[in-house]
Amino acid sequence: MSIYTCPHCGKKSFNPVSKAFAGQLNSKGKVCMECGRRCVNGKGATIFNAVYTIIVFALIVIIYLNAPKTADTQYDWIDKYELFINAGLILSYAIVPKLVNAFFFRLEPAIRSEN
Ligand SMILES: [Zn+2]
Repeated sequence: MSIYTCPHCGKKSFNPVSKAFAGQLNSKGKVCMECGRRCVNGKGATIFNAVYTIIVFALIVIIYLNAPKTADTQYDWIDKYELFINAGLILSYAIVPKLVNAFFFRLEPAIRSEN
């Protein structure tokens, strides 16, 4: 069974792009092209996203707290790149979960009501 298979009708009606934008368990999901019912990325993807969110924000906080205002510490390099690293982290936060949704974890039926 493919990860692009609709959990309602069993047809392979999703592709990496549509799956990437199907959202998580708590979202409304994306309508299956074959049967018209809503599908979302399942528990695995939802847990990954939650963990990834925590890691990204933890790293931003850690970098912020460790970015030295004085020279000659082992973290000196962070000061120069802090903005760059944080921007990269935020960018990865926007992209990585989408990539993971696109290529990993199965679809599940949307549990949220459709209205
Ligand atoms: Zn379907």
